[in-house]
Amino acid sequence: MASITMDHIVKQYGDGFPAVNDVSLAIDDGEFVILVGPSGCGKSTLLRMIVGLEDITSGTMRIGDEVVNDKAPRDRDLAMVFQNYALYPHLTVYENIAFPLRLQKGHFSNEEIDQRVRRASSLLELDEHLNRKPANLSGGQRQRVAMGRAIVREARAFLFDEPLSNLDAKLRGQMRTEIARLQRNLGITTVYVTHDQTEAMTLGDRVAVLRRGILQQVASPRALYEQP
Ligand code: ADP
Ligand code: ADP
Repeated sequence: MASITMDHIVKQYGDGFPAVNDVSLAIDDGEFVILVGPSGCGKSTLLRMIVGLEDITSGTMRIGDEVVNDKAPRDRDLAMVFQNYALYPHLTVYENIAFPLRLQKGHFSNEEIDQRVRRASSLLELDEHLNRKPANLSGGQRQRVAMGRAIVREARAFLFDEPLSNLDAKLRGQMRTEIARLQRNLGITTVYVTHDQTEAMTLGDRVAVLRRGILQQVASPRALYEQP
């Protein structure tokens, strides 16, 4: 686990207004920060710069004490949970969760893979479903498998890009609870992009508000949403 420190981060596409404009934000080790703001304000761009999927125009990005500006995504040791969490339909839940570890050939013994898959599936209460295929799971269970693939890597931080936006209201409520519980249990540094105010109010330790690429406000959900 690790802190994430952004220092005067700028992203300029072409020669228009910067998509991310001089953002400085220090996220503590274990903290859960929600990134909100209207469509096009730069949320995804900022998240992609943390993960390394987007070059930083200027500024410094640190994970823990390490400057990661020039590090490839796979060397950053972060786990991204995307909105469309496509699982491999021909693989069991077990193998879907194990997949990120099997990709790093020779890195993990079968025994270690098994231990990690069991730990992740137990946290997610998927133990009973390890031999099933995605088609035989509910939407919520599938979402948990997708999170299992992130957890199994035991990454230094979780990054979520609107993970619940394709779900119906009931499932969204369940998953909100699930994510909050997991984050507390794991104590893992988390950055979570959403435009859903309920998620912003209930999930995070702090909410960071972006507008036209500028960080306007960083405050506790209570301070932001419960002001008289
Ligand atoms: P959000 O996630 O808040 O909706 P984005 O980070 O996707 O916002 O986009 C921020 C701004 O950067 C928008 O004006 C968008 O059009 C622009 N943008 C995003 N990606 C690119 C790109 N690859 N090339 C050019 N402009 C982009
Ligand atoms: P148990 O629940 O007693 O572990 P299982 O049949 O679930 O019995 O597992 C037997 C072994 O195979 C264990 O090492 C388990 O982790 C592993 N295993 C279970 N399911 C799968 C699977 N779908 N793919 C690969 N290995 C699996």
